[in-house]
Amino acid sequence: MTRAAVEGRRIHVRGTVQGVGFRPWVYRLARELRLHGRVLNDAAGVVIHAFGSQEALERFVRRLRESGPPAASISSVEDSAIPPEAVSDFTIVESEAGDERRVSIPADLATCGDCAREIRDPANRRHRYPFTNCTNCGPRFTIALGVPYDRAATSMRGFDMCPECRREYDNPDDRRFHAQPNACPACGPTLRALVPGDGAIDGEDPIELAARLIGAGLTVAVKGIGGFHLACDAASELAVLRLRRRKHRDEKPFAVMVRDLDEAERLAHLGPAERALLLSAERPIVLAPRRSGAPLAASVAPGNPLVGLLLPYSPLHHLLARAAACPLVMTSGNLSDEPLAFRNEEALARLGEIADLFLVHDRPIVTRCDDSVARVVAGGPMLLRRSRGYVPRPVPVARPFDTPVLACGALLKNTFCFGIGNAAYLGPHIGDLENLETFESYQDSIDRMQRFLGVEPEIVAHDMHPDYLSTRYAQLRVESRRIAVQHHHAHVASAIAEHRIAGPVFGLAYDGTGYGADGAAWGGELLLADAASFTRLATFRPVVLAGGDRAIREPWRIALALLEDAFAGEPPVADVRLFRQIPAEELAIVRRLIATGANAPAAHGVGRYFDAFAAIGLCRTRATYEGQLAFEWNMMAAAAPGRERGRYPFDIVRDGSPWTIDLRPMVRGAVYELIGGEAPAIVAARFHNTIAAASAQVVRHAAVLFGRLRVVLTGGCFQNALLTERTLEELSPMFRVCLHRQVPPGDGGIALGQALVANAIATAARDSRRS
Ligand SMILES: [Zn+2]
Ligand SMILES: [Zn+2]
Ligand SMILES: [Zn+2]
Repeated sequence: MTRAAVEGRRIHVRGTVQGVGFRPWVYRLARELRLHGRVLNDAAGVVIHAFGSQEALERFVRRLRESGPPAASISSVEDSAIPPEAVSDFTIVESEAGDERRVSIPADLATCGDCAREIRDPANRRHRYPFTNCTNCGPRFTIALGVPYDRAATSMRGFDMCPECRREYDNPDDRRFHAQPNACPACGPTLRALVPGDGAIDGEDPIELAARLIGAGLTVAVKGIGGFHLACDAASELAVLRLRRRKHRDEKPFAVMVRDLDEAERLAHLGPAERALLLSAERPIVLAPRRSGAPLAASVAPGNPLVGLLLPYSPLHHLLARAAACPLVMTSGNLSDEPLAFRNEEALARLGEIADLFLVHDRPIVTRCDDSVARVVAGGPMLLRRSRGYVPRPVPVARPFDTPVLACGALLKNTFCFGIGNAAYLGPHIGDLENLETFESYQDSIDRMQRFLGVEPEIVAHDMHPDYLSTRYAQLRVESRRIAVQHHHAHVASAIAEHRIAGPVFGLAYDGTGYGADGAAWGGELLLADAASFTRLATFRPVVLAGGDRAIREPWRIALALLEDAFAGEPPVADVRLFRQIPAEELAIVRRLIATGANAPAAHGVGRYFDAFAAIGLCRTRATYEGQLAFEWNMMAAAAPGRERGRYPFDIVRDGSPWTIDLRPMVRGAVYELIGGEAPAIVAARFHNTIAAASAQVVRHAAVLFGRLRVVLTGGCFQNALLTERTLEELSPMFRVCLHRQVPPGDGGIALGQALVANAIATAARDSRRS
């Protein structure tokens, strides 16, 4: 018998294949099939050089395509023949510098099934050990101190592995081969229960104790992966209200952690996409419709038919969720508007008044990282907040960054972004840059990411708004080249980047507000845009904000201005229930503000139309947080019976530039219907349908002039599933429409667009100098 001839293959695997135990998995597969060669990371994924018989190589490629470690997600496997090499074994080539360095820090991974089984197994040496992890799971980004990512450069460096852990770590056939945070009860971090002021409680299992207190209606601060959570019994109205009061949080919904998927199904209606998101290694909070009669306190999410669910993602969560035997509120450990607490002393100081007990441990969290939030929109996942589990995984871009760019993001829901080579690295969720604590967290986070990436940005991109703290920060940076990017152009560009679109697009960018190129508040824009530039083709007829920002907190003021405009100064104020709640004197003052234009700036934001209609339809004068009423209006429309298809008239005025989408006919129609006693849910649905129809109509007009370009839907308004789905239906027979999937449509995704625009502007400027 002759030995089969040796052949060679070069195999390129793309997708989420770094930091997820992919190379050890390839190593084991290659050994099983008696192949020789090597596996290494490159900038875009993993490259394998494999040598052996043709049959073994084919099986190898097939297995690569069909399976992989649990946290990996393979987008493509390409292979080509290469000359055979005389190598006698299969090796994992370690990460070096350059691009390798950049991709060496993986995102945090939820506890895998194997580790979850081990902690439940009384015979296992990691039984009930809250810091169990392996190559397929565990903390990564949040414990990294530097690069390249190995144990000495993580907050595990203070723990010496015991001989047994060391053997696992060194053995390529072991599931813990090079699992940097590998630990066990003999050598790893330990959990303690502390009472604020009284110190440690010994003699009782900390998790059992925490579960007991939660069962008694108390609040426990739990140190997790990216920071502290505040946990309490989500089924107890008293417990939840008590936490809400202590946290100074009015009505913003709390997330709920459940033991497993079955429990999630009992609380909410889940489809396949929701289930996949809940179970993904990124473990975001997933918004889903709450089941009627679900055993959850109403104050978990007041007035909200959705509930944010998440599954345990650390062994500590698994153990606590089982011991507690109730769904757990798991809200970020902070006072309203402050950044998430993530260091032990800091948490004790800041949360001491809120929590009755602390579950703490001695594995430091290096980088604060909030939970991510996702939702299913138009059948697919949409990230509303991209943070833990996703950061620092890069978004690959079609056109490489010429020079490194730092984009500073916007004001609310801030994230920043570094653009290097063919990748954009969005940072973790920072929050609203409106106080000193958050601003400090922002600067620290940028500094750390810059070190991790080993990059010196040459261009700093920022929003055009002169007063945003992110703009001020950009101006303080040492880099000489600063590029201001218009807010909605950045929104559109973030979609262009995500979908790797080369040419111009029609971008519908709808949000609350963004600083316009003319200094006005934009927010209902149709842009003809590519990465380098944009033309404002159309905008919504502006709405007057009587009293400026006060109108956003008191949307009845916007409603009044809309009616003044739509009814030409003679609004049927007496017939609209909303205005009966406002003292006559106050009504008169605001009407005067609107008439004179004093302290009454005009705004184009679609979000303002939502605010105003929500105020009228829901009969509510105030919002306790940004976007609250708009969201409730959306939920009311989504609950309208029988998929309501009606809509109101509108005009598109095309005799100026930009064109104006004039919704005054809609305002009149809707107000008459409400006065006539039509159900607010029907009016809400028709309102959504009208905005979708007007959007599609204006795009069709634009297509007459510019051709059938691709359409992107972006901006915070497109977190609204109904608006997105209706707009998609109106456009999709004729246009290719792109929605955000990996990057938030709201301001949390805007830094990516800023980076793309700044790079395109800088490249264009350089090219024009050369020619
Ligand atoms: Zn594991
Ligand atoms: Zn050990
Ligand atoms: Zn925006």
